Amino acid sequence: MPIRFFNTLSRELEDFAPLAPPRVKIYTCGPTVYNHAHIGNFRAYIFEDLLQRHLEARGYEVERVMNLTDVDDKTIRGSRAAGMPLEQFTQQFKQAFFDDLKTLRIKPASAFPAATEPRFLEKMIAMIRELERKGIAYQADDKSVYFRLSKFPDYGKLAHLNLDELRPTGRIRNDEYEKESIGDFALWKAWDAADGDVAWDSPWGRGRPGWHIECSAMATALLGPQLDIHCGGVDNIFPHHEAEIAQSECCTGQKFVQTWMHCAHLMVEGQKMSKSLGNFYTLRDLLAKGWSGREVRYALISVNYRLPLNFTFDGLAAARAALGRIDEWAARLADLAAKSSAPSAHPLAAQTDFESALDDDLNIAGALGHLFNLIRESNRLIDKNELSPADARALLARWQRMNAVLAFDPEAAEIPAEVLALAEARVAARTAKDWKKSDELRAQLEALGWQVKDTKEGQKITRR
Ligand code: AMP
Ligand code: ZN
Repeated sequence: MPIRFFNTLSRELEDFAPLAPPRVKIYTCGPTVYNHAHIGNFRAYIFEDLLQRHLEARGYEVERVMNLTDVDDKTIRGSRAAGMPLEQFTQQFKQAFFDDLKTLRIKPASAFPAATEPRFLEKMIAMIRELERKGIAYQADDKSVYFRLSKFPDYGKLAHLNLDELRPTGRIRNDEYEKESIGDFALWKAWDAADGDVAWDSPWGRGRPGWHIECSAMATALLGPQLDIHCGGVDNIFPHHEAEIAQSECCTGQKFVQTWMHCAHLMVEGQKMSKSLGNFYTLRDLLAKGWSGREVRYALISVNYRLPLNFTFDGLAAARAALGRIDEWAARLADLAAKSSAPSAHPLAAQTDFESALDDDLNIAGALGHLFNLIRESNRLIDKNELSPADARALLARWQRMNAVLAFDPEAAEIPAEVLALAEARVAARTAKDWKKSDELRAQLEALGWQVKDTKEGQKITRR
């Protein structure tokens, strides 16, 4: 079966066929760096990570660009409130973002262009000039430059809006606006007092770029006029991605994106998790509460990307339990596999149902279902002594292939040193047949939130 993705543009599942295989060019809208990204944002980035990892598992070479929006209304407002230059203000959040990506095991993009880099500002200005030359961009009385929507009849195709039914609302200077506000959007914003010292020279006077042109410029500068996939959250469809299509296609005359993929929102009690509603958690908030990066990763990845995902602490607890199960199984396989040097051709290890589920529009719920079936089946065989060391080695190799996509493996560092020391002391106590001491150490480990199990293969510790 071919890989199929749901394309927002056609609203259909389509067979995936990149323009120049095995290369796949992906552009993903990155964070606005005025604050710590919240885990709703990370749901989008984790979905994109799953997409990249699965394509790589299928033999594609992915080139992915993720931009950083480091100039817009929000970053300017934030830097002025903090009394810091814009660059210094955004730098701290860029760094925090990179740290969070690492904690969540999200592969770094091939490039992280920032809107204020001179080469990209030049590209934005060049694109606006090209649009002006074609009579599509015009400078208005307020000195800002706008995109003339009447010149691009396809506007609204991605969001499936019928423009004839919507009343045009004139010009729109804000980057974010509602679907009902169909109007010429800003490409270049003339300086105003609220911008302070944030401004660049341009053929239209001092000012700054609009948010939409940032992405068109960075995407085409780094990936060329045509992309295979462009991703984002559903809130990006209108107006942002609609505007990206209009700008890019009017400049290049070519179809900008083959496949548009958008993930549904992370919700909290029926509402989108967002900074403006104040109902958000950052990754740091969750780490401070004792959750680990991979637990948050599991919770955010495990629901199919086109379905809304409700954020709850029960969901995180379920992620912890699921990972505990996987860890225990992988450790059992590893113990058994250590007794063999070559894998067997075990039928369970030859299955490809996990990969096939992901081929089907990244059906991760189905893929995880197959993984847990595999765990159940192979645990049953180990319990009955029916799995040979060579079988275990084959299954372990299969798990490693799945894990290259999931990135769920435990980190040694995730078990705190204090817990490791107690666990080692308990092994020593048991070797010395000091059962009382062994029980005391078990109680201490439990008090720290770790469970001890004595198995045939030795002591196992997992989070409770
Ligand atoms: P922003 O910083 O608001 O521009 O958002 C960055 C990315 O996160 C965009 O792709 C958004 O669509 C996405 N995003 C924002 N909030 C959520 C949410 N609650 N759930 C999923 N994705 C989101
Ligand atoms: Zn964008």
